[in-house]
Amino acid sequence: MEESTVEKREPKYKPADWHTDKCGDILVTPGTFGRLPYLKTLEDVDFVVAGIPFDSLTSGRPGTKFGPKAIREAYGGIGYVYGTDIEVFDYISGVDYGDMEVINGDTKQSFEKITAQMKEFLEAGVVPVILGGDHSITYPELLAYRDSYGPVSLIHFDSHTDTWGGEESLEFPSHGNPFRNAILTGCIDPKTSIQVGMRGIMRDEHDYDFAHEHGLEQIYAVDLHKMGVYEAAKKIREKVGNRKVMVTFDIDFVDPAVAPGTGTPVPGGFNSWETLELVRAAITGLDVVGFDLVEVAPNYDPTENTQLLAQKIVAEFITAIAAKKAGIKEYKYIEKK
Ligand code: MN
Ligand code: MN
Repeated sequence: MEESTVEKREPKYKPADWHTDKCGDILVTPGTFGRLPYLKTLEDVDFVVAGIPFDSLTSGRPGTKFGPKAIREAYGGIGYVYGTDIEVFDYISGVDYGDMEVINGDTKQSFEKITAQMKEFLEAGVVPVILGGDHSITYPELLAYRDSYGPVSLIHFDSHTDTWGGEESLEFPSHGNPFRNAILTGCIDPKTSIQVGMRGIMRDEHDYDFAHEHGLEQIYAVDLHKMGVYEAAKKIREKVGNRKVMVTFDIDFVDPAVAPGTGTPVPGGFNSWETLELVRAAITGLDVVGFDLVEVAPNYDPTENTQLLAQKIVAEFITAIAAKKAGIKEYKYIEKK
């Protein structure tokens, strides 16, 4: 990345010191994301990590309610990122806000609670970094973004478009229709949004019609494999420009050989390096107002590799928040001698 000209500051909340387990005077609770303090505060905070352990609207195999816990416990941290060359907590302060109060089995109440909590984050000027949960949760998240910012642009990594359903999709939300509902309710501007990695099962050739009719573009997996991550990143950046953007990442974007812990895995995906490099190259310097990472179901992955990668992707999100704060405009790999 280019050298930052923004002055560094001492952030209030950052990961616990490895020896004392403390962040300042706070003794950090074990099992938080990246050893951040577990605090229900939005003061002096640039981002929060919050879990949404909700998987009631999964169509295939359940288990993403265990996602937030697994991602938090995965090996890895946040801090200096080799390659991106930024010391994250020189620029930003963040906490692990714990999990939202969702009730599996009660979609209506859960969605209301998600939207209300998201609004609280956004009104405080905090960037939410959400750990799912099945992908249905992104719709109530987006309702909050819409209420705060109007329609936002969306960068959506997934092997599925999640724009399925018909007339009844608003009445019967699922993890297969959050973006249909987001378009129908004016949460996202489809013409400045993009979906990346699609290769999922289609019922027929008209599965993508709804997205296309609304001007929502996809980079299919087959094309991403051919063009490579840097070309794809360029297309993504051109699409969203300098607009406010929400980034949603379904772990089934990744190849199931690398990340099998998910409900609806689809072969033909991307490896961990392609994934991380694409995320960095695509989002660094953009005006990202929030993130989520969804569909991690650790019960299908005894190796724990799925949550290991999920943890790293989330760390990249947080790095991007720091890069934006540091005034860095784009990702440029700096080779260390
Ligand atoms: Mn999805
Ligand atoms: Mn998917």
